[in-house]
Amino acid sequence: MIQFSPARLPKWLTWLAIFTALSACTLKNFSNLRADDLHEDDLRLYVLDCGYIDMRGFAQFEELYGVPETAVAIPGQANPCFLITNNGQSLLWESGLPDATPREPTPSALGVKFEMPNKLKAQMEALSFPPANLDYFAISHLHFDHIGNSPYFKHVKTLLQRAEWTAANRSGEKNIGYDDKATGEFKEYEKLILLDGDHDVFGDGLVTLISTPGHTEGHQVLVIKLREYGPVILSGDAIHFAEELEHHILPTFNASAEQSEATVKTLLELETALGGELWIQHDPVQHQKRKIAPEYYR
Ligand SMILES: [Zn+2]
Repeated sequence: MIQFSPARLPKWLTWLAIFTALSACTLKNFSNLRADDLHEDDLRLYVLDCGYIDMRGFAQFEELYGVPETAVAIPGQANPCFLITNNGQSLLWESGLPDATPREPTPSALGVKFEMPNKLKAQMEALSFPPANLDYFAISHLHFDHIGNSPYFKHVKTLLQRAEWTAANRSGEKNIGYDDKATGEFKEYEKLILLDGDHDVFGDGLVTLISTPGHTEGHQVLVIKLREYGPVILSGDAIHFAEELEHHILPTFNASAEQSEATVKTLLELETALGGELWIQHDPVQHQKRKIAPEYYR
């Protein structure tokens, strides 16, 4: 089960800890304290609106998702992106549907409707983090609904699992969801960094990519240790809907059922160990409860 029990320290306790730490400094050390040290609580998580995918006209919904359409609260997926700022540096997690997607729900050939009422670039600019100013870009996996606006970030250090890159570029048998053209565009990335496992993004242990294969061969999730709200795990597509957990089922199109099951177990254990929340990104019910930018979690 999902447990929502973020560890929150009372504010006075935080200040007491800071005061105690400062008191322990010698006068010389105190005079060397840099402005950055005084802003070390500046880890923020912004939820951005990166489109919606309405499955109600999708004939293969039950076959692909492994849950009856009627068992899902709202058979439409939210498709958020997340901006994380940390001590003057920034990371964008996922890039959503392309900004060129119509603002109104528009049916595709398969009967799925796509809409992008708010554009990613405009949302980033409104937060004073235009794509040009971004430091890091990371993606859970290379399926189309997670890389739609990636061309904005060709100049940015892009963090992707090597196994994902290999799988997406494999010729012949391709997993559903990969798009040759979109994947091919990543070859033009100036700073594509291929990872072989977990990775501490800023080097301070606060924001970590965790290798979680199963949905795809090189899928990864992101853990953010927010100071006030508590730790948050961003699921990517390791889980699509809360109902997948409820019914103990997995989508039939995952790359490996065995690895998917192991990953779900790992995520639930991690949620408990961290005392945090597992955010299922595509889940429409969870998404509706979240604060959307310019509000943020810290
Ligand atoms: Zn997805």
